[in-house]
Amino acid sequence: MSVVPILKAENISKSFGGIQAVSNASIEVPAGSITGLIGPNGAGKTTFFGLLSNFLKPDRGTVIFDDKPIHGKPPHAIAKLGMIRTFQVPRVLSRLSVMDNMLLAAQDQVGERFWSTWFESAKIAQQERENREKARQILASVGLIRMADDFAGSLSGGQRKLLEIARALMSDPKLILLDEPAAGVNPALIEDICGHIQRWNREGLSFLIIEHNMDVIMSLCDRVWVLAEGHNLAEGSPSDIQKDPRVLEAYLGS
Ligand code: ATP
Repeated sequence: MSVVPILKAENISKSFGGIQAVSNASIEVPAGSITGLIGPNGAGKTTFFGLLSNFLKPDRGTVIFDDKPIHGKPPHAIAKLGMIRTFQVPRVLSRLSVMDNMLLAAQDQVGERFWSTWFESAKIAQQERENREKARQILASVGLIRMADDFAGSLSGGQRKLLEIARALMSDPKLILLDEPAAGVNPALIEDICGHIQRWNREGLSFLIIEHNMDVIMSLCDRVWVLAEGHNLAEGSPSDIQKDPRVLEAYLGS
C-alpha cells in the first residue's frame, strides 16, 4: 500500500455558537487505503466530514486532496476533483427512479454543454447512452439492477446506502467519505456492503469511513483515527486502537 496521502487535513476547527464541535483535528488518508474514523457519540466525526468536504466551512485549518488545497472550494468542485461524501441518512431522491438517481450524478458533465450546436447535441445523446450503460453496470455489480425502474423511496435503508455509494461511483471518484455505511442495515446486507467496499478498494478506490460497528472497522480498515470531544485522541492499526486505554476510556466515559 502506498503511504502517499490522498487526503491530508491539518488543524481543522469548527464551533457552533458556544459548542466547539471540532478542535484542531487532523487526519491523513493514505492513497489506496480504507481508513476508519471512530469516536463516541458527539465526538465531532460527522462535522469533521462536513469540514473536509466543505459542506461546512471550517473556522481554521487546511485540507489537501490529491496534492491540491481544497479548503474553500465548493463541494461540487471537490467532487469533480475526485472526492465524494455520503451521508448518515442517504440523500437519495425518493420520488425518482433508482436509474434516474444514478443519471443525475452524471448530469453535470452533460449540463455544462447545454448551449451547444446540433453536433454537440449528438455528442450529448451519445454521452447519455454511455452514462446509462455505466449506471447499469454499477447497479448490476451491487445487486440493484432489478430495482432500476423502481422509486428510490421504495428501497430498504441498506439498499439506499448502496444506491448512494453506487451513485458516487458515477463520477469516477478517487476517494469516498462514507458516513456510517452499516448503521440501520441488516447483517446480511452489511456483509454485502463490506464486500463491495473491499472490491472497489482493490480496484484502486480509497475510503474514509465513519462507523460505530467495530466489526466493520476491524474487518475493513488499514488504519483508524479516533476523535473524542472534537480532538484527535489516537491513530493506529485497528487492533492497536481496540486495546488503547485512552480509546476504551473515551467510549466507557461516554
Ligand atoms: P454521532 O456518532 O452521534 O453521529 P458525531 O461524532 O458525528 O456523533 P457530530 O454530529 O459531528 O458528532 O457532533 C459534534 C458536536 O457538535 C455535538 O455536540 C453536536 O451536538 C454539535 N453540532 C453538530 N452540528 C451542529 C449544528 N449544526 N449546530 C449546533 N451544534 C452542532
